[in-house]
Amino acid sequence: ELKIGVLAVQGDFAEHIAILRSIDVEAREVRLPEHLEALDGLIIPGGESTTLSRLMTIYDLRQSVAGMVADGRPVWGTCAGMIMLANEITEQDPVPLGLMDIGVQRNAFGRQVDSFEQELQITPLSPEPYHCIFIRAPVVFRVGSSVEVLASLDDGAPGGCTARQPLGDGFSPRTHPRYAGASVFLQYGGMNSSVAVP
Ligand code: GLN
Repeated sequence: ELKIGVLAVQGDFAEHIAILRSIDVEAREVRLPEHLEALDGLIIPGGESTTLSRLMTIYDLRQSVAGMVADGRPVWGTCAGMIMLANEITEQDPVPLGLMDIGVQRNAFGRQVDSFEQELQITPLSPEPYHCIFIRAPVVFRVGSSVEVLASLDDGAPGGCTARQPLGDGFSPRTHPRYAGASVFLQYGGMNSSVAVP
C-alpha cells in the first residue's frame, strides 16, 4: 500500500488527508524530518506560503524534502505548496524550496474576493472535467523544459504565462491577455516527478 505524507504544519492538510483516506491511500501527517523516511511521496498542501516557508525552516524540513526529491520520490504541491516547490518567485518572501523549474507569482488573480471556480479538462487524471477551485491562487508565469503542463486555464497555450504583470488597481487576470494561459497543473519530468496543483 502506498504511504503518502501530507505536510501538516499549516493550511488544508486535514482535507488532503481525508481525500487520500477516502481512496484507500495510507496518509500520514508530516511535521518532522523523520516522518518522511517511510513515505512513498509527499503532498505540500495549500495554505499561506510565507507561513509554510517559516515553519519549514523552524521544523528543519527543507533539506529532507529536497532529499526526497533527490531519491526520486514524488512531491505534489497544491497552491501554496506549489509556491514552495518553485525555483523562482516574484517576491523575497516566502523562500521557496527550488525543487521545480517554474516561476510563480503569488496572489496573481488579485484579492481574496477574486477567488473563483472553474471546470477544467485534465486528461491524464480523468476524462471528465475537473472542478477546480482557485482560492487566492498563484500563477505560473514561466515553465522550464523539464516541466510538462497538463492543463491550463485557457486549455492549451503551451508554456502557460510568459509575461510578468504587476498587479495594479482593477487588475483582472481572468480577462487580462497575459494571464490567459496561466498553467494550473504541471508535471515535473526528468529524474523526479513532482506535480504542482495551484
Ligand atoms: N495566497 C496563498 C499564498 O500566497 C496561497 C493560497 C492557497 O494556497 N489557496 O501563499
